[in-house]
Amino acid sequence: MPELPEVEAWRRALDGPVSAFPVLKAGPAHVATLKTFDPPLSALEGRRLAGAKRRAKRLLFPTDDGELVVLVHLMTAGRLKFLRSGEAGPKAPAFRLVFQDGSQLVLTEAGAKKRAGVWLLTPEEAEVELEHLGPEALHIGTERLGEILSTESRRLHSLLRDQRAIAGIGRAWANEILHHAQLSPFALSRELEPEEVERLALAIDAELTRGLELRERGAKDKRTYRVHDSLGEPCYVCGTPLARVDYEEHTVYYCPQCQTGGRVLKDRRLSRILR
Ligand SMILES: [Zn+2]
Repeated sequence: MPELPEVEAWRRALDGPVSAFPVLKAGPAHVATLKTFDPPLSALEGRRLAGAKRRAKRLLFPTDDGELVVLVHLMTAGRLKFLRSGEAGPKAPAFRLVFQDGSQLVLTEAGAKKRAGVWLLTPEEAEVELEHLGPEALHIGTERLGEILSTESRRLHSLLRDQRAIAGIGRAWANEILHHAQLSPFALSRELEPEEVERLALAIDAELTRGLELRERGAKDKRTYRVHDSLGEPCYVCGTPLARVDYEEHTVYYCPQCQTGGRVLKDRRLSRILR
């Protein structure tokens, strides 16, 4: 799933193009993709977008008259593409906006399952839709992070992925961040020393910034991730083969030397069954 670095890179790329011309035609949209029906998509026609914004892993396209907001959540397989006038695009995108110069913003989704969503909302409705989200992960700072970590006792990998606690991080960047911070994915949030909280805050910024820079240059997953999805590859710090453990429907990647003091973690689902 695209996370903060990926979505922010797309936002930066889309910001100028989507606001260059007013919307000529909005839709059609796949019935599973469009989550709202009132106002109708046609309400966008003739209006100009004010650019692209982002909140957590969602993209927002407010109209420049301040009356409407297009909210897009790409989930795992959704992708947005801006097509210049005359540029060939997909025949049946899940959602399409055509601008007055003939350029288009199209949403496609690989696979049969349609999970990505588009909402057409008023700014007030958009606020309600987003109000459950925690503070943005990038530049969260040691103090704020410390407050979040101390609120409840949670495993770090799980807490970092919880959008209500901290917004924008998913399983891939949680792996990268925890490795950078040299903390166990299963360390308990309340048990961190102040120095470890600081290390985690620094790691969040360092990794999300690194990811954003790479994604803006068009880097693929293989070049972007150093820990995520890299089972058996040498740790970039110590050379130990990276390990993997299944946890809460997720696969966690980590370095047994840098992060867990030489301990290889047991599969939690398996050990629960065997207990
Ligand atoms: Zn290591």
